[in-house]
Amino acid sequence: MLKHNLGYPRIGKQRELKKACEAYWSNRIDSPTLFEVGMKIRKENWETQEKANLDLIPCNDFSFYDHVLDMSLLLGVIPESYLSIPINNNLDLYFAMARGFQKDVWDIQAMEMTKWFNTNYHYIVPEFDKNQKFSIFSHKIFDEIEESKKILKSIEKIKPVLIGPISYLFLGKEKEKSFHRMDLVENIVPVYINIIKKLKNQGINWIQLDEPILVLDMSEKEKDVFQYAYNEISRLCSEMNVLLTSYFDGISENMSIFQKVSVQALHIDLVENPYQLKKILSFFSEESKIILSLGLVDGRNIWKNNYFNSVKKIEKAIESLGESRIMIAPNCSLLHVPIDVDNEHFIHIDIKNRMSFARQKIDELNDLEKIVKGDTNILRNNSSLIEESSSIFSDPKIKERAKNIKNQDIQRNNHFHIRQKKQREKFRLPLFPTTTIGSFPQTKEIRNLRNQFRKQEISKKKYDEKIKNFITDAIKKQEEIGLDVLVHGEFERTDMVEYFSDKLKGMLSTENGWVQSYGSRCVKPPVIYGDVSRVNDMTVEWIRFAQSQTNKLIKGMLTGPVTILQWSFVRDDQPIFHTAYQIAWAIREEVLDLEKSGIQIIQIDEPAIREGLPLKKKDWKCYFDWSIKAFRISSSGVKDETQIHTHMCYSEFNDIFKYIADMDADVITIESSRSKMELLNAIFSYPNEIGPGIYDIHSPRIPTVVEMFDLIKKASKKLPIKNIWVNPDCGLKTRKWKEALMSLHNMTKAAKMARIKLIDIS
Ligand code: GLN
Ligand code: ZN
Repeated sequence: MLKHNLGYPRIGKQRELKKACEAYWSNRIDSPTLFEVGMKIRKENWETQEKANLDLIPCNDFSFYDHVLDMSLLLGVIPESYLSIPINNNLDLYFAMARGFQKDVWDIQAMEMTKWFNTNYHYIVPEFDKNQKFSIFSHKIFDEIEESKKILKSIEKIKPVLIGPISYLFLGKEKEKSFHRMDLVENIVPVYINIIKKLKNQGINWIQLDEPILVLDMSEKEKDVFQYAYNEISRLCSEMNVLLTSYFDGISENMSIFQKVSVQALHIDLVENPYQLKKILSFFSEESKIILSLGLVDGRNIWKNNYFNSVKKIEKAIESLGESRIMIAPNCSLLHVPIDVDNEHFIHIDIKNRMSFARQKIDELNDLEKIVKGDTNILRNNSSLIEESSSIFSDPKIKERAKNIKNQDIQRNNHFHIRQKKQREKFRLPLFPTTTIGSFPQTKEIRNLRNQFRKQEISKKKYDEKIKNFITDAIKKQEEIGLDVLVHGEFERTDMVEYFSDKLKGMLSTENGWVQSYGSRCVKPPVIYGDVSRVNDMTVEWIRFAQSQTNKLIKGMLTGPVTILQWSFVRDDQPIFHTAYQIAWAIREEVLDLEKSGIQIIQIDEPAIREGLPLKKKDWKCYFDWSIKAFRISSSGVKDETQIHTHMCYSEFNDIFKYIADMDADVITIESSRSKMELLNAIFSYPNEIGPGIYDIHSPRIPTVVEMFDLIKKASKKLPIKNIWVNPDCGLKTRKWKEALMSLHNMTKAAKMARIKLIDIS
């Protein structure tokens, strides 16, 4: 039974890679210095994994920016526009593709970036021409193998990792619509074969080809090209052992592929989908000699493995295939978890004992092996730890409340039409009311202020006073521009989830729990370790202060339960919807307190609702059942006259719009300008009020009055005029004040123009 790992975090224990890349980009260090940092991280990772006794250790899992972009460079998939840039090395070409190239007369945009399956990691989308040629371009993988030979004691342990050809094609996009990228399979496979042969020449015996496409609803065409590709590979590279990996869900629906395809080993994810084991074992028990790699240790969450459950699976697999045909591993790359729990110094010991980051996770494989060989002590200790800890931070009252959600808890008192009428009479807003999404520019001054307060360098009194000055100032600016519904600006928040997790009971922030989000950007997800409840109000003081500064309506600003859940590490000892309902209830209490203090409009942001969506369509309904219920728990306690807004962004929403309508928010503001309002084709039947974003806040560009007016006009052809709001795509925290003010100024002008020119149509 071999123990292996699919990938190790590459950011470095103290985020060395982030710091080095950013220093290189701003010309503070040269490329040899940057390469040295990379080499040090790889060395440390390999040594850690060798010490943990792994039999196969991943190589080429390191990346300076993104492993999909690495693949594009390896395969020579480089859009023409980047080839003409005046740079003299591949590293700069690589970074130009990732980040764009602006210098002198050159202004080339970065390549598109999107989410890696249902994770919070983002990859650079490969771009294919109709006659796309592939050929080995970058030598990174071969160089890293030579490097690992010097560090690891035995070459037998080195297992290079690549994205497999079909998932690679799948992850990319066609530059023109005239062809299907899967048709490029015949061009791409020979290059993979070349690569594998080169690896063989370097002395490599095992390679890992990641094919996460296997867990999706694959089309017939995808299945066909899959079979073609792997038949070619096994025909022409028979001396190489190929480990094909699937992760993030089960593959039983696509098992027919393996009637025709043979690889030496197949990896399955038994964390996300434990149920597939039975079917897969029965599929492989006869005739086939395939080795099954069991993904048992959770590479996407931070809790200790439940050894009892894992060992049961290992024993079942051994019983049907025999020990020599089993491998054990984490379910997916450890890229999605922080590096080392030992870097945490402030977490309550009972919680910390339950946690496991990358370094601990690879040790868990050792433990599992020992248990299989008969060590009962380890098993016993683990079982009692898991049993005890789930009772330590439990609060029966909170549990009960989340279990007994009644119909009236998820239902506003009256139908939207009645609410809309009451709200309209009360607020007397003009048609096409204007608003923003919540945050205003986060200047250096504000960040310094929050830092000073965090380090206790200034008193709470002083801090509050200064934040209030920022709020007053932001309100004055919004009034000058003539916006209709104002916000306080979110100056007190570093991050929309962290702000709440710091205040909620049952959640904590880590000290060093960084995870790569994209390129040099890392996030530090909070941890939900116990039953979640609200101890004190969290936002009321700021919002009430803001309202006291103006006669216009202030919109209170909260983060929704699904987003808090989605961007955190969630406890795994109870069903996820229980946790969601607990958070939802805490937000509901905050909503009610805001209402009580006179706030009449409250926004509950749910930007992450789309990304929690299961990978297979058949699971969508179940997901929306609980996630929408959670939103409704948080939003349904208010009077008819209180207007609930929600906001969504970061994705396209066309395919899930009918579910979004079930959230029954009075108003939704939603990203749509980047797709030129393609969204509108899906939302013509949206029943409530809606503000499709009319300008892209990701760009410093100031949109013109006319272009925004045109988008409002477009919307007014699809939606009842009385339901349309005018707003940007998302919050303005990443913009400069000057950009924000000029853009909003034009936006309000466009709304005024709409009030004059579009009224007749209604
Ligand atoms: N209210 C938040 C803001 O304006 C929403 C952020 C988001 O949608 N990601 O920043
Ligand atoms: Zn947003």
